[in-house]
Amino acid sequence: MPVEGNLTQQERVVDVTVGIVGSGFSGLGMGIRLKKAGIESFVILEKAGDLGGTWRDNDYPGAACDVPTHLYSYSFEPNPNWGHMWAKQPEILEYLKHCAHKYKLHSHLIFNSEITDATFDEAAGKWNVRSKDGTMYRFRALVLGVGGLHIPALPDIKGVRSFEGKVFHSAQWDHSYDLSDKTVAVIGTGASAIQFVPEIAAKVKKLHLFQRTPPWILPRPAAMNRKIGKREQALYGRVPALQKLQRNAMFLGGEAGAVAMVYRPELLKYAETLSRRYIKTAIHDPKIQKAVTPDYRIGCKRILGSSDYYPALNRGNVELVTDGIDSIGFNGIRTKDGSQRDVDAIIFGTGFDVGGGLRKFNLTGLGGIRSTELLQNRVEHYLGINLAGFPNLFVLLGPNTGLGQNSIVFMIEAQTNYALKCIQEIRRKDLAWIDVKRNVQSAFVEDIGERMKSTVWSTGGCQSWYKSEDGTNVTLWPGFCTEYWMRTRTPDFSAYHIESRVTKAGKGNNLS
Ligand code: NAP
Repeated sequence: MPVEGNLTQQERVVDVTVGIVGSGFSGLGMGIRLKKAGIESFVILEKAGDLGGTWRDNDYPGAACDVPTHLYSYSFEPNPNWGHMWAKQPEILEYLKHCAHKYKLHSHLIFNSEITDATFDEAAGKWNVRSKDGTMYRFRALVLGVGGLHIPALPDIKGVRSFEGKVFHSAQWDHSYDLSDKTVAVIGTGASAIQFVPEIAAKVKKLHLFQRTPPWILPRPAAMNRKIGKREQALYGRVPALQKLQRNAMFLGGEAGAVAMVYRPELLKYAETLSRRYIKTAIHDPKIQKAVTPDYRIGCKRILGSSDYYPALNRGNVELVTDGIDSIGFNGIRTKDGSQRDVDAIIFGTGFDVGGGLRKFNLTGLGGIRSTELLQNRVEHYLGINLAGFPNLFVLLGPNTGLGQNSIVFMIEAQTNYALKCIQEIRRKDLAWIDVKRNVQSAFVEDIGERMKSTVWSTGGCQSWYKSEDGTNVTLWPGFCTEYWMRTRTPDFSAYHIESRVTKAGKGNNLS
């Protein structure tokens, strides 16, 4: 429970051991880890009015997980009641709410609490974190669970602001706007768009779908993409090992995928054959078949799974537009070939400002080092969790810990475990702070860069949001998840500068 400190004139001071920012899978997972370890002195700060992160925000029609359900949950909290093999957004949000309730996180959650800046107080060994509502938090350790994909990316298309119709992004879906009988433009054909396009295609009068680069899509046969009935759910409830068996098989399938994605991209050509065949059977018009066939190696961008996206392109009211967008005017979209399409609404399925959540944070570390300056350039980090110069800071789903082939929740659990062990060490030895050594960090990033060279994300011949402007892949983990788990199981404290309380004696105060 939060311990309130002295009130200053303007600020309420809350002094607790751990501050967690964000209440999605990462933030809640960290909270649960702390609870399980008997640490009650923490808060979870959430800028919105409810928990759930990505799964609260992304509630567009058809929103669902593209990782199989049995794998997409905390390992310690299996859910026998999943209703679909690929869970829908409402049931995932429900699952997170269940976890928050079961692990009694509500007394730790502080909603509508947006952080404006965080500064490390070297003498006290504490993070001073300011929230917009005027509260000053003091944390011995700060955990950022802000997610990599939550700031909508709105492309800077000429004239975009002049459009007078309805505009929204897939992650900010306006459910009050009725799409029935409207002429609608969708920009983007990524993971989100292929889920909502089939949902809205039947509703709208006309759908112009603007594709810049076609994604590789694998079919999801009905036998796989099925509902999970009551009997099966009851069985999982009674015999949890059955669900665990499936979870493990799915995880190993993902690890097998890593063999190809990371080490042997040429093996992916077999998946391309499957996808090409699927295009031929699912799409009637040969011109559309050609237009949706990618010219880069499968896996270079995220591989998508759907059995209703291509059929939606067969509809008479759906037009796939592959000419590049020239500009947006007050009433529609003009393409580079000079054609104009008048529309009532534009929906951006254009993805996210990757890592923007972390960049947005105004963190000041040792010697006044600023994260905003640091993260503009090449992102240096250790295990995707620590940033040198920012002691006692733990980032969840930080740089190079995203996945293209397995469940991100696995990575989150590895990271929350790692952060917990560091926090326990800080408390047990009453350390002022730990800060990853710069040379260790540089060696780590260099190794990641080397390993990245042979991956499909580097060799596959595509542009993707995985890479920064200079072509560095700052998003994905180039290895097996199992390796990441092994490397994060037990922190190697020789990788850190450790400042003991003794050295800081007299300067520190009242560490909780
Ligand atoms: P995305 O995969 O980044 O797709 C963005 C789409 O917008 C791409 O087709 C992109 O084309 C297009 N685009 C971007 N800027 C454009 C411009 N200026 N003009 C025309 N087209 C433009 O974004 P997303 O679909 O929102 O998905 C993002 C990520 O969220 C996914 O990769 C996945 O990791 C996650 N996600 C997960 C699930 C899940 O089920 N777990 C579901 C949805 C999303 P280009 O390819 O040419 O750049």
